[in-house]
Amino acid sequence: MDWRAATEPEPLCIFGTGDLGRSLGQRLLQSGYRVVYGSRKPHSCGPLPPGTQAMSHSAAAQSAALVFICIHREHYNFLETLAPQLQGKVLVDVSNNLKKNLYPEANAEYLQRLVPGAHVVKAFNTLSAWTLQNGPSDANRQVYLCGNSAEAKQAVAETATKLGFTVLDRGSLCAARELEDFPLQLFPEWRLPLRIAVGLTAFFYFYLLIRIVIYTYVQKGDDISFRIMVSLANKVFPIVSLIMLSLCYLPGVIAAFLQLYRGTKYRRFPDWLDRWMLCRKQLGLLALAFAFLHVLYTLIIPQRYYVRNRIAGSTILLIKENKTSAFDSALAWRSDSFLSTGILGFGLYVLLGITSLPSVSNALSWREFSFVQSKLGYLTLFFCTLHTYLYGWNKFLKPTSYPWYTLPGYLLCLIVPTVVLVLKFLLLLPCMDRSLTRIRQGWDRTNKVDDGEKSLLA
Ligand code: NAP
Repeated sequence: MDWRAATEPEPLCIFGTGDLGRSLGQRLLQSGYRVVYGSRKPHSCGPLPPGTQAMSHSAAAQSAALVFICIHREHYNFLETLAPQLQGKVLVDVSNNLKKNLYPEANAEYLQRLVPGAHVVKAFNTLSAWTLQNGPSDANRQVYLCGNSAEAKQAVAETATKLGFTVLDRGSLCAARELEDFPLQLFPEWRLPLRIAVGLTAFFYFYLLIRIVIYTYVQKGDDISFRIMVSLANKVFPIVSLIMLSLCYLPGVIAAFLQLYRGTKYRRFPDWLDRWMLCRKQLGLLALAFAFLHVLYTLIIPQRYYVRNRIAGSTILLIKENKTSAFDSALAWRSDSFLSTGILGFGLYVLLGITSLPSVSNALSWREFSFVQSKLGYLTLFFCTLHTYLYGWNKFLKPTSYPWYTLPGYLLCLIVPTVVLVLKFLLLLPCMDRSLTRIRQGWDRTNKVDDGEKSLLA
C-alpha cells in the first residue's frame, strides 16, 4: 500500500472543460500528474484527455489541493457557494479580460473575495491553450505569477517548472491586474517608433509627390506618375532611415547636455526623454528595415525600363552626333565615394542590428555592447550622413532644385543627423568630455557647493 501511495501521481483539479482546461489537463498528464475535472456537466462535457476524470465541482475540489480555475470571470459567482469545499486550497486564476479596466478589481482579487478561505495565485494567464498543447518554446517559456501566500505560490511554481516553464514571481496579488493586462498589450514598445516611421513615410511621400510628379505635370505637362512606384519610394526610404537613425542618437546627446547643465546625473530625466530613450532599439531596427528597402530598390535600378531607355537614348544621341562624353575625374571620385560610404554605412547598420538581437547582445560584455551601439553607431550615422551629402553634392546650388520654393528631400533629412553629429562633436571636446565623465562617475556640482560652504563655515 505504501509503495502504491508513493508512486501514485499527485492529483490536480481543473474547473472548466473548455479550450484552456483541456490543453492544461493534457500538459499536466504528460508531466506525470493525475488530473480531475470539475464541470457543470461531468457526463457530457465532450472529449477530455484520456486518463482524466470529470466530476461535479464540489467532488473534484475535494480530491486535490490545487485547483486551476479555467472559467471566464463572468461565471465565477457560483464559486462562492463552493467556499467550504475550497477552504485552504490553492486556486490558480488563469483568466484574462477582453479590455483593460473592464472591472474595478482584478479577476484574481475578485476570486479571492468570493473564496476568502482559499489561497489565490494568479498564473498561466499569459500562455495560450495552443502553447500549453505544444509545450514551452524559447519564445514562450515564462509563467508570471503573483499571490499573497508564499506556500501557495511555491506549489504553483513547482507545477509550472515541472511542465517545463520558467517562473517569474511578480509579488503579491496586487500585481494581478498588471498580469491580466499583459496579454492585451500589442507591441507596446514598438508603438511610438512605428508611428514615427509611418508619419515620416507619409509626409515625405506626399512632399516628394508634390515637388516631383505634380510639379512636372503642372509646369511642363509631362506625366511621370510611374515614378511613384520606384523612384519616389527609393527617395523616401533612405530619408526615413537616416532621420530615424539620428533619432536613436539624439536623445543620448540631449541627455548628456542636460547632465552637463544640471551638473549631476542624480536628477531624473523628463518623462518624454525617458520614453524616447527606451524605444531607441526599435527606432534603430525600423531604420535598418528602411535602409534595407533602399538597398533592394537601388539594386533593381539597372533593370528598370525607364533607366534602360534613358541610357540607350543618350548613347544613341552621342552616336548620332558623333561625340564622346569626356571622362570627369571629379565626378568619378564623387560617385565612388557616394557608393562606398553607402556600402560602409549599410554594413555597419547591419552590424548594429545583429548586436541588438538578445542572443548576440547577451554574449557581449557591457563594454563591448556599448562600443558597438555607441561608437560604431555614431560611425554608421556619420557614413550615412556623408553618403547623403555626397548624393546632394552641388545640387543645392542649382535653382531648378527648388520647385515651388521647396527644399529637396535629401536636404530636409540632413537637418537632424547634422545636428546630432555636431552636438556629439561638441561633447567630444576635451573640456566637455572631462566634465561629462566626472558627472557620470558620480560627481555632483550641487554637492560640491555644499561641501565648499561647509568648509568655509568650518
Ligand atoms: P472556454 O473554452 O469558453 O471554456 C470555459 C469553460 O468554463 C467551459 O468549457 C465550461 O466548462 C465553463 N463554464 C462556462 N460557463 C460556465 C458557467 N456559467 N458556470 C460555470 N462554468 C462555466 O474558455 P477558455 O478558452 O478555456 O478560457 C477559460 C479561461 O482561461 C478564461 O478565463 C480565459 O480568459 C483564460 N485563458 C484562456 C486562454 C486560451 O488560450 N483559451 C489563454 C489564457 C487564459 P464546463 O462546461 O465543463 O463547466
